[in-house]
Amino acid sequence: MGWLPDLADPTFRPGWREQVRLHWVANVIMLRSWHHTAGFILWSLIALPGWLAWAGFFMLLASLTARGSMTPAAFVGCVALGLIPILAIQHLAFVVAFRRHYAPCFRMAMNRSGTPVCEGCGHLLARVGTACPECGRVA
Ligand SMILES: [Zn+2]
Repeated sequence: MGWLPDLADPTFRPGWREQVRLHWVANVIMLRSWHHTAGFILWSLIALPGWLAWAGFFMLLASLTARGSMTPAAFVGCVALGLIPILAIQHLAFVVAFRRHYAPCFRMAMNRSGTPVCEGCGHLLARVGTACPECGRVA
């Protein structure tokens, strides 16, 4: 798994105009799908309890700093350190949401624009309707 998941076969290298167009179509496809829109939002909300805990931690440390029990530098350091695990969880949730709910829509957009691709794994196909040699899926 890379920093950002692959949308399709790395040999598929459209120009920036075509990329913008494909992402536009993919977003429309995703927004028209209750399953993909709700799934993307639900995965993105996984880090919400962490964000709420971080806000409580922030307010506790702010009150300690206001009372003089903590230096401002320690406050900033603790708040920043507390952000690291939450940002990591938020990023992982985004990657999962992206792979499960956005990438299939992007591949549908590719198929609709005449580039046959497996909607399951992003492998480029000779033509639409053939079984994917990578994952075996038939579109
Ligand atoms: Zn495949």
